[in-house]
Amino acid sequence: MFSTTASAIYLDRIERARASMQRSGIDVLLVSVGSDLPYLTGYDAMPLERLTMLVVPCDGEATLVIPRLEAPRVVEHEGVFSLRPWGELEDPVAIVAGLFGRPRRVAVGDTMWARFLVELLGHWGSGDTEYLRSTSVMNDLRMRKDAAEIAALQAAGAAADRVAAQLHAGEIPLLGRTEAAVSADLSARLIAEGHDIVNFAIVAAGANAASPHHHAGDRVIVDGDLVLCDFGGTKDGYCSDITRCVTLGAPSAEIAEAYVVLREAQAAGVAAGVVGAACQDVDRASRKVIDDAGFGEYFIHRTGHGIGMEAHEDPYMVEGNALLIEPGHAFSVEPGIYIAGRWGMRLEDIVVATDTGPLSMNFANHELVSLG
Ligand code: ZN
Ligand code: ZN
Ligand code: ZN
Repeated sequence: MFSTTASAIYLDRIERARASMQRSGIDVLLVSVGSDLPYLTGYDAMPLERLTMLVVPCDGEATLVIPRLEAPRVVEHEGVFSLRPWGELEDPVAIVAGLFGRPRRVAVGDTMWARFLVELLGHWGSGDTEYLRSTSVMNDLRMRKDAAEIAALQAAGAAADRVAAQLHAGEIPLLGRTEAAVSADLSARLIAEGHDIVNFAIVAAGANAASPHHHAGDRVIVDGDLVLCDFGGTKDGYCSDITRCVTLGAPSAEIAEAYVVLREAQAAGVAAGVVGAACQDVDRASRKVIDDAGFGEYFIHRTGHGIGMEAHEDPYMVEGNALLIEPGHAFSVEPGIYIAGRWGMRLEDIVVATDTGPLSMNFANHELVSLG
């Protein structure tokens, strides 16, 4: 089966990987299980003990060395890579090593099983060959989302938005249910709206929301609670991640005022996420609003994380990260205010930096919605 549009996407990515290899004098890139493999080939390998490895020489055709029994699952892309299925009686590491002479510099995928690297060292030795992490080749590529990836992030974001809209419309019962029951409900709705996998569904009520990554438990939601819901999944290989808070009954004046600050802080972070700004500028912009309102000590985490095929990946929106934002960088903007023992709130959208400004993946109501 051939798909031309997809082929063009993967060829472009492999060409960009090659250009990066050329710049750093890397002869060959070895990518095994993990998200770099589907990024470059469209094939998502199960993390099995049998060797699956994409071999990308700096010049020369890429080869996907794959267990024969898995080969039927691969959608081939003509001119992008060729398949080298291996049978049960063959030594796949010897096949990889035999595809080219002893490399001078080889970039090795971060999530390749260590046993394959150990066996490759047996073939190439550690004397003349230099081994590098594949992040030196892949990180820039993976951070800069291409059009197909931005479309996938938009689709995942829209699916998460639909679940948030159901929450805001009161279609997800909260009163009298446990956090865990609501979490299961959110998870089922993420799947119903088109996600393939649920990555997390944090539901934190009342004082539990003061713990940013609270694990939904048997706490029953009662009238007067502020309930923080942070959920996301993977749809067609790309992740969603959204946080919205609701109250049961009208919020206290204190919570309503704090939420105005939070909302302004989140908007300031999004506005700062422009091409050419530093990642830490996003964090500074959100933090300044919260600091100025006197809640600074209650904002206890970084403002955001990169997102793509992984729920958390580079770049991170954190003080100290001077990396400049480039078109295609995708990240969360999620400031929070957490008062231990009392309440917590966070507001999160996914944003992609573009030449014409920040492009949001989330449009769900940003207000603190009161239910019941
Ligand atoms: Zn988080
Ligand atoms: Zn989140
Ligand atoms: Zn997040």
